[in-house]
Amino acid sequence: MVRTSREQGIVLRTYKLGETDRIVHLLTQGRGKVRAVAKGVRRPGSRFGGRLEPYSHVELELYAGRNLDRVLQAELLAPHAAIRSEFATSAAAAVMVEVVDHVAQEGERDNALFLLLRAGLQALDARPEDPAIFVDAFLLRLASVVGFHVFTDACAVCRTRGDHVFLSVTAGGVLCAACATTGTRAVDREVIEAVALLTSPTEWSALPALARERPRARARAASYARAFVEHHLDRRFRAYEAVPRP
Ligand SMILES: [Zn+2]
Repeated sequence: MVRTSREQGIVLRTYKLGETDRIVHLLTQGRGKVRAVAKGVRRPGSRFGGRLEPYSHVELELYAGRNLDRVLQAELLAPHAAIRSEFATSAAAAVMVEVVDHVAQEGERDNALFLLLRAGLQALDARPEDPAIFVDAFLLRLASVVGFHVFTDACAVCRTRGDHVFLSVTAGGVLCAACATTGTRAVDREVIEAVALLTSPTEWSALPALARERPRARARAASYARAFVEHHLDRRFRAYEAVPRP
């Protein structure tokens, strides 16, 4: 059996272990979530230096132990240090890693999830003016990656295309008038357009303009994103409340 392997990973969180060690939770590109011990990492002059900080993108050499892996080597691919230097960006990144930690499975490769987290952290590392908009988008994009896609251009129930105005958390997006049940709220089309932009997998660069130019629609879309993800992933995310919002 091969006991050592090389993996790219993003540090999700770390815990102190004993006097000088740390347990590191990582999302790896090839093996999903990995929990590993970094020995001596808290000792001055450790060979890991500051390379295993939360949000860092690293290349690792891992040794498979009985319960936990062991980090043998770590090289920085992208430190994402700007995220940790400001409260708003680190609060936003904390939500991203909390949600990823919740959905990622140990031993299960999920490259789409890895690439999404990397893109979300890169967006925050560029010190955006309004980091919260990237959290809103990240939540809906992650939901889509794990199987809960938000429908915005076709009815979530009957798949009829059109400019529908009823928006449902539980049904999974917009509903046509025939499928909307009593109590489903009609919203302005600009709210649905904002939800569509948040969900669209490639449109990170269009997000700051949405936040600036359509604050009302953005605020409604953000509440929807949170409600959608908490409902379908069946969990409240603790870090969400700390993210500063305009
Ligand atoms: Zn319908």
